[in-house]
Amino acid sequence: MDKNLVVGAGFSGAVIANLIAEKLGEKVLVIDKKEHIAGNSYDYTDENGIKIHKYGSHIFHTNSEKVWSYFKKFGDLNTYMHRVIAVIDGIETTIPFNLNTLYDVFPETLAKRLEEKLLKSFEYNKKVPILEFQKQADADLKFLAQYVYEKVFLHYTNKQWGTSPEDVDGAVTARVPVYISCDDRYFQDKYQGIPTCGYTRVVEKMLKHPNIEVKLNTDYKVVKGDFKRIFYTGSIDEFFDYKFGMLPYRSVNFKLELHNHPYYQSNAVVNYPCNYDFTRIHEYKYYLNDISEKTVIAKEYSEAFELGKNERYYPIPKDENIELYNKYLEEAKKLENVYFLGRLGDYKYYNMDQAIGRAIELFEEVCQ
Ligand code: FAD
Ligand code: UDP
Repeated sequence: MDKNLVVGAGFSGAVIANLIAEKLGEKVLVIDKKEHIAGNSYDYTDENGIKIHKYGSHIFHTNSEKVWSYFKKFGDLNTYMHRVIAVIDGIETTIPFNLNTLYDVFPETLAKRLEEKLLKSFEYNKKVPILEFQKQADADLKFLAQYVYEKVFLHYTNKQWGTSPEDVDGAVTARVPVYISCDDRYFQDKYQGIPTCGYTRVVEKMLKHPNIEVKLNTDYKVVKGDFKRIFYTGSIDEFFDYKFGMLPYRSVNFKLELHNHPYYQSNAVVNYPCNYDFTRIHEYKYYLNDISEKTVIAKEYSEAFELGKNERYYPIPKDENIELYNKYLEEAKKLENVYFLGRLGDYKYYNMDQAIGRAIELFEEVCQ
């Protein structure tokens, strides 16, 4: 009985399976209920030669040397650095709201005055979460804070989470801070890029090992047999048959459109905080500079997760949800040789590098 079971073939499952197969030389069965590997990071090349990120734009970024060197073993990355354009009152500007943004949206004299006041009040390069940025005494900065809150965060957050910025965990909106800097990139991590072979291929290489067997279209519920260890990257409440109630998630609906001209918009991602019902539009050909006379975009609509209707995308970090998750975690601790990980298993808003880092750490903790 030296076989391991890994439930889920996203990054969390693929990394732990790869390490067990490679470093321990043990057998691993990896199952996924979807018809493909790579979980939410899945991408594919369409008939126009455009690499589509099926579940929305995925940009790899990390400050972790360990995660970066591990990831690179499975594929080269380009030097793409992500920028996000937001349309504010019809004007295209970059977010996070930064010093350049001031000059895009305000008359020059006002922008200059605000910039000077910001530089007096905050250290250069400081990232200020919007909920903290609102605590301003100066009248001009108060005006600016209200402007950013209303034009960037309020409506977008309502669309994305179905609630106002005050009612989502501060860490969520802090992902896109007000940035006292001229750096207009979305991420400041040392390492960033898109794997030139695509994410699916990276995961495929992680799983390509004589000790690993992959079964798709296979739900955990139908798997029989004894396993030395089980690593579960599905939703922890589902594992326990929702005995304490269901963990809430947000889901997303991506509406793809094919356009018969080379480009649709000026950037890979354009956010529409205040307009329309979708939050953002992705145009995929930018990531790997795919050459095509056509282009594919996806409009992203956020909605509540409903079992049987749509998929789980985002855990909702909120006190009452964490409390519920902790009840499941206590149950999990009672089990022998069953481990939970990943965005769904840990109920944490992980980026890919964090999911990979967590899988590596769990392997080191449990298997070494
Ligand atoms: P998942 O990828 O969700 O994989 C879990 C797998 O388990 C799934 O394939 C599922 O089918 C399977 N599964 C679940 N239950 C069962 C069961 N009972 N039986 C069998 N199989 C099961 N991260 C970044 O770093 N950069 C980005 O730009 C970025 N953009 C994102 C955009 C969106 C819209 C979303 C939703 C996420 C984004 N992420 C991004 C986060 C990234 O998708 C996650 O960090 C990553 O997918 C986590 O991998 P995972 O393996 O934990 O989970
Ligand atoms: N956000 C916002 N306006 C924007 C971009 C982000 O209000 O134009 C808020 C929103 O609440 C969002 C959060 O910041 O959910 C995190 O944004 P991020 O782009 O990191 O979300 P993800 O890419 O994970 O969906």
